[in-house]
Amino acid sequence: SREAALASVTGPGATADGHAVPLLANIGGPRDLESALAHGAEGVGLFRTEFLFLDRGDAPSEEEQEAAYRAVFEAFPGGRVVVRTLDAGADKPLAFLPPSGEEPNPALGERGLRLFRKYPEMMGSQLGALARAASGTSARPYVMAPMVATVEEATWFVSAAHEAGLADAGIMVEVPSAALRARQLAAVVDFFSIGTNDLTQYAMAADRQVSGVAELQDPWHPAVLDLIALAAEGAAAAGKSCGVCGEAGADPALACVLVGLGVTSLSMGSPALPWVRAALSRHNLEQCRTAAAAARGALSATSARAAARAELPGLS
Ligand code: PEP
Ligand code: MG
Repeated sequence: SREAALASVTGPGATADGHAVPLLANIGGPRDLESALAHGAEGVGLFRTEFLFLDRGDAPSEEEQEAAYRAVFEAFPGGRVVVRTLDAGADKPLAFLPPSGEEPNPALGERGLRLFRKYPEMMGSQLGALARAASGTSARPYVMAPMVATVEEATWFVSAAHEAGLADAGIMVEVPSAALRARQLAAVVDFFSIGTNDLTQYAMAADRQVSGVAELQDPWHPAVLDLIALAAEGAAAAGKSCGVCGEAGADPALACVLVGLGVTSLSMGSPALPWVRAALSRHNLEQCRTAAAAARGALSATSARAAARAELPGLS
């Protein structure tokens, strides 16, 4: 049965011919660790730290932050844990910051790293708490910034993280400008993680929150696949890793396509991990590449999905 077939695939993520693709969990805090471990996550590919900052009247102390980060690091001894710095803004407002005024387009406003440009002491305190939490654990701590649009922003963030003692500092590639300039960005960061949710929203100019444009908010659109390919190629040219932590990686067919595009790890909501592990185990890297090329050659999201699936016979 399908369930039995799924249960039989365990262990680290890999294609049928043994090309390793670490399978990691997206988490919102220590409460999600149990599910990540139960579904066989090899580490954390996206720790959304917003939960510590939202829905409260004061900023979390560095001690409080440190305790939450340490709990996550300790759950994956020897494993990779990628922590994303605060991604707040008009879409996710913080009660303890002065109101920035109504933004007509919250997704295009003072969000993510842009907020840290305005309040650099908040970044200093988060990076400091992370560095202290990481010291003394055996996890491999990675830190990354959301909503990076320019090389200058990336350089600013990565220098600050390195200065705080965090050796692996990267960026999310979720703004089309970052994908288009992947080569230049890859030279100044330690890794990329593609956020396909926002990358799709911005590439297609289709608000994630507006159901009327849901058809455009589909990562199978060949334009989105082209941007992902650019990011992966830019990272590879500089010898850097390039993961995906948007929900695109949770679609087993698209996961195979992403690997074919050159993505080096996949992070997703934990329940999807067994399905993606099984899909990868049934296809070799060449099939993934062929499926990726077929999808990019299509003229619509629907035909890209169909063209890829035709090259992936092991999908149930
Ligand atoms: C993304 O944009 O794809 C992503 C992973 O980040 P979030 O969904 O938290 O914006
Ligand atoms: Mg995002």
